[in-house]
Amino acid sequence: MSLIRDQGIKKICLFGGTICPRSETLLAGSGSIFIMSKNITQLAAPVDVKDAFGRPLHDLRISVIDRCNYRCPYCMPAEIYGESYKFLSRKHWLTAGEIKRIASLFIQLGVAKVRITGGEPLLRKDIVEIVSSLSDLPGLDLALTSNGSLLASHAKDLKKAGLKRITISLDSLDESVFSEMSGRKGEVSRVLQGIEAAQSVGLTPIKINVVIQKGKNDHTVLDLIDQFRGSDTIVRFIEYMDVGTLNGWRLDEVVSSASLVEQISARWPLKPVEPNYLGEVANRYIFEDGKGEVGFISSVSEPFCGDCHRARISADGTIYTCLFAKDGISIREQLRAGASDSDLIGFLQGIWRNRKDRYSEQRRENNEIRKTENSRVEMYRMGG
Ligand code: SF4
Repeated sequence: MSLIRDQGIKKICLFGGTICPRSETLLAGSGSIFIMSKNITQLAAPVDVKDAFGRPLHDLRISVIDRCNYRCPYCMPAEIYGESYKFLSRKHWLTAGEIKRIASLFIQLGVAKVRITGGEPLLRKDIVEIVSSLSDLPGLDLALTSNGSLLASHAKDLKKAGLKRITISLDSLDESVFSEMSGRKGEVSRVLQGIEAAQSVGLTPIKINVVIQKGKNDHTVLDLIDQFRGSDTIVRFIEYMDVGTLNGWRLDEVVSSASLVEQISARWPLKPVEPNYLGEVANRYIFEDGKGEVGFISSVSEPFCGDCHRARISADGTIYTCLFAKDGISIREQLRAGASDSDLIGFLQGIWRNRKDRYSEQRRENNEIRKTENSRVEMYRMGG
């Protein structure tokens, strides 16, 4: 049995697809150390699993590609991710079949919702095949997050393949603000065309995710509301976070959800409504005049780690249990070495049972960026 470290990813080597019979295996992940049981092949599925704080596993975010056609300075700045930057090679990407198998294993552990992310997932040529194979899994709520730039030509096929919902990132309607925030790669008009295409094929309600950064796009909040109010599109404002290591995050660049609620309410009165389900990340408000809904994701001012039931898997099959993880654990080698479903379920169960992540709560408690800042996995790699 060997523990191999490669690019911050801890990998477990299995012998012939089974756990090493000689010893228990010591794993480390996201700041947690745990022992993987020797007898995982005896586990019966389906099983419900809770993490170290009693949180169930409900959502899985699957990043299908680490590449993006934008170069947002807070995520993938052009000076680092230029022409010569080496992204994952294709042979390391999970195939559509592998993605489906992993998703089905997670479903056996309680996952009911899968969100496909990237990078930009529509850059992957077999994205329709991936969606189609996941949509075969019974009872799964299947969603996708995209920057929308390629959506106009994909919306119809994605809908036909079984995609249920889509979330589109759009930080501003102001062309120059948006251009700057996308590293001079994005065009508002293309994203709006993508939204229109998604609406026309019934990928609704569409959610628009907007990361608000003080001094960058906070003056364009009302324009976004004005554009989408009264349609079946829900704008959700996300507090700017210290994800990855590249954005030079400062607390004073965060615009709190509370101040946005106040700003929007002054123009279009809002009232809070109950979440749709336990653990919903956005606080929901409706317009008092009945013209729809708006959401606020307050990861900095009101962390929701207590209800966080999301796992993430990267394009190369590395599992992360927190958006702010320092490292993850690869499942790909085991998959390709022929591990059985029961082996893999035991492996995933071990990861989740030992999860102790609560980064955003710790950030608030310490009122500072935590010391792990320089070793975090970048968001484009693990999926947002
Ligand atoms: S900081 Fe980590 S544990 Fe907390 S809500 Fe975000 S992803 Fe979940």
